[in-house]
Amino acid sequence: MNFKNITVAGSGVLGSQIAFQTAFKGFEVVVYDINDEAIEKAKERMDNLEKTYVDYFKDEQEAAKTAKQRLHFVTDLGEAVANADLLIEAVPEKEEIKKDFYQKLAKVAPPQTIFATNSSTMLPSQFAEYTGRPNKFIALHFANRIWMNNTGEVMEHPGTDSEVVTQVLEFASAIGMVPLHIKKEQPGYILNSLLVPLLDAAQGLWEGDVADPYTIDKTWMVATGAPLGPFSIMDIIGVDTIYNIVSAKAEDPNNPEQAKFKRIADLVKKEFIDKGKKGVQSGEGFYTY
Ligand code: NAD
Repeated sequence: MNFKNITVAGSGVLGSQIAFQTAFKGFEVVVYDINDEAIEKAKERMDNLEKTYVDYFKDEQEAAKTAKQRLHFVTDLGEAVANADLLIEAVPEKEEIKKDFYQKLAKVAPPQTIFATNSSTMLPSQFAEYTGRPNKFIALHFANRIWMNNTGEVMEHPGTDSEVVTQVLEFASAIGMVPLHIKKEQPGYILNSLLVPLLDAAQGLWEGDVADPYTIDKTWMVATGAPLGPFSIMDIIGVDTIYNIVSAKAEDPNNPEQAKFKRIADLVKKEFIDKGKKGVQSGEGFYTY
C-alpha cells in the first residue's frame, strides 16, 4: 500500500473521526464538506477529538497533538480529491445523496483514486456504476468511537479489483484498525449480521416476559464468557437508535414478525424513550450509570 494522501468526504460524526484517526496515524488528510458552516462544525469536532485522543492515548501524546496539522479543510470537491490516493465517503446515509455525490465525484477525481464508502446499511454495488470506476470502489466500514472500537470492515462488490482489496486492507491496518475482509456483499457486514439478531432476540425475550433484562444479560455473559450482555450493549449504542431499528421493522408490512416488533417498539417507547432514558449517554437506560 503506497497511499499518502487521503480525502474524507463528509465531516459529520463518523467522517470527522475517520479523518482525525487517519491524521493521527501520520497521513495527510483533506476533509471535504459542502459549505463553510459544515467545515466550522468539523473543526469543532476535531478540537473535541484532540482532547479525547490526548486522554485516551497516554503514550502517543505527540501524534494526538500534531494530528490537526495534517488536516486540511476544503469545500470544493475537485480541489479536495485532486491529490487523493484514497477517498473515503462518509456523507449522509441517504441513497439519493450518495448517488449524487458519486456522480459529481466521478467527473472531477483523478483516474487512479480509489473510492471507499463507509455506508452502514447500503451495499457498494448500489453505487458502483455512478463512480465511473467500479473496479476501484469498495466499502470500508468503521464503528463509532473509532479510536477504541477499531474494526475496519473491508467489503468488496463483484466488480472490485483484488489489488484494491489488498491495498484497502493494508490501509485499514496502517491507521490502527483491525482489518476484516468480507469476501462478498453482506447487508450489515459481519458485525451487524451477528449483533442485530442477538439484540432482537433479547428484546423478544424481555417483551414476552420470559425473563428480565438482567437475567438475559447474565445468561449470555456466564454461558459465553462475553463481558457484556445484549441490554448493556443497547445502552452503549443508545436506546433511541435501538428504538429506530425496531420501529422500522414494526412499520414494515413485509416483515413476518411485524406484530412482535410493534410490541417491542411500544415497550421501548413507554419504558425508555418517553422517560428520556437513552442509555449510557443520558446516565440511565436498562442500567444506571
Ligand atoms: P452525519 O450526518 O453526522 O454527517 C454527514 C456529513 O456529510 C455532514 O457533515 C454533512 O454536512 C455532510 N454532507 C451532506 N451532504 C453532503 C454531500 N453531498 N457531500 C459531502 N458531504 C455532505 O452522518 P454520520 O453519522 O457521520 O454518517 C455518515 C456515514 O457514515 C453514513 O453512511 C453512515 O451510515 C456511516 N456510519 C455512521 C456511523 C455512526 O455511528 N454514526 C457508524 C458507521 C458508519
